[in-house]
Amino acid sequence: MSTSPSDPSAAAGPVAPPYPFEAPASEELFAHARAVTPGGVNSPVRAFGAVGGTPRFMTSARGPYLRDADGREYVDLVCSWGPMILGHAHPEVLEAVTRAASLGFSFGTPTPREYELAQEIIDRVEPVERVRLVSSGTEAVMSAVRLARGATGRSLVVKFSGHYHGHVDALLASAGSGLATFALPDTPGVTGATAADTLVVPYNDPEALEAVFAEHGDRVAALVTEAAAGNMGVVAPRPGFTALMRRLTREHGALLVSDEVMTGFRVSAAGWYGLEGPQGADGDDDVHAGAPDLMTFGKVMGGGFPAAAFGGRADVMAQLAPEGPVYQAGTLSGNPVATAAGLATLQRCTPEVYAHLDATAARLSSAASQALTDAGVPHTVSSAGSMFTVFFGPDPVHDYAGARSQDLGAYAAFFQSMLSSGVHLPPSAFEAWFVSAAHDDEAVGRVLEALPAAAEAAARAQSSLSGQTGT
Ligand SMILES: *Cc1c(COP(=O)(O)O)cnc(C)c1O
Repeated sequence: MSTSPSDPSAAAGPVAPPYPFEAPASEELFAHARAVTPGGVNSPVRAFGAVGGTPRFMTSARGPYLRDADGREYVDLVCSWGPMILGHAHPEVLEAVTRAASLGFSFGTPTPREYELAQEIIDRVEPVERVRLVSSGTEAVMSAVRLARGATGRSLVVKFSGHYHGHVDALLASAGSGLATFALPDTPGVTGATAADTLVVPYNDPEALEAVFAEHGDRVAALVTEAAAGNMGVVAPRPGFTALMRRLTREHGALLVSDEVMTGFRVSAAGWYGLEGPQGADGDDDVHAGAPDLMTFGKVMGGGFPAAAFGGRADVMAQLAPEGPVYQAGTLSGNPVATAAGLATLQRCTPEVYAHLDATAARLSSAASQALTDAGVPHTVSSAGSMFTVFFGPDPVHDYAGARSQDLGAYAAFFQSMLSSGVHLPPSAFEAWFVSAAHDDEAVGRVLEALPAAAEAAARAQSSLSGQTGT
């Protein structure tokens, strides 16, 4: 598969931590990667820009562990940013994938398993009546936004500052100066005209959301929200905020699009919706009255392969081609190998698995918090179900401004120390930590052992960086 200068299968047994900060095989691979790919990575956070040093090039993974090109083993607390909920190379998922692949890779026709996966999603998430499969979370959100615009005949989309929905042009926008203003492009390449159709609001701010709908409500196609934010670090909606979103969108004839690409099938069998339930429809028996109109899924539902989906109310989904006029398509949509991985994964996400994730996340987050407290490092644990982030600042975080107020230098030092102890954390302070069903006592124990030294490193970085911000 690769032309890597170091053949991982040639490496001897795993090297034991602590690891030096140098990683010769990864350094060599990174040098080559940068010669052929911008920044040496195919997704920016992988480059370690926020924490410094060389990204570890992984060559294999099993259960809760990753193994790098230098033959070192790491407890994985990223889990491919969420999908590997059962752990890496789960034997039964591997068998399902192998069996599917042996029968052909892609047919460009309907295949039976696509509808089994769709049914599995519908059975788990009550408000979802129809599903369309796509290949990435970005595609799912992009398609849901188009559908919302097509279904309502309106242009504007409202999103929250710090929420990430993939690299959808319309949602790569950030707030201009002042509240309730039209957005500015968040990256070169997104036109002013595209950003001008997007309104960006601070998260968990009821007054700001009410103000936007009061002023622009009759032109809003959709309010798009992460079901619980995970891409500025984990920040759950405050009590009543989801209900407010539901009420305002309904009153103004806009659709509520809940992006569960990260939370879906991870924080419960029915994602964040499964934890929060219908919102803002007291006394109404109709589940749809308090549920999002559309939802987007990805990550866990692909089991580590490119499969994602959007779905929701049957009448809205009926606007999609070929049933309706809103065009949407994909050569590899519903791919037989990806759907085999996704279906085998979801079918093994049992109540026991979710209970294990909750317990493991609680153990790890409280141990991290204790170690940081012992070392005198101000921090806050913020969680949504089994997803959590340790923010390196003293105050509870409710929005992007809060997430940004943390000590990034302290996090970088903490991260590097954990890495040298054989624990792979997210290489950015603005990300969730993920656990899997395979994180057993042995793996958790390795993390717990690594924490005190990392907390000390964070404490030292904190004082040596005082007066500076960022990395
Ligand atoms: C990861 C993510 C996406 C984008 O999914 P990709 O598969 O990376 O395109 C969209 N929304 C949320 C909430 C995500 O976490």
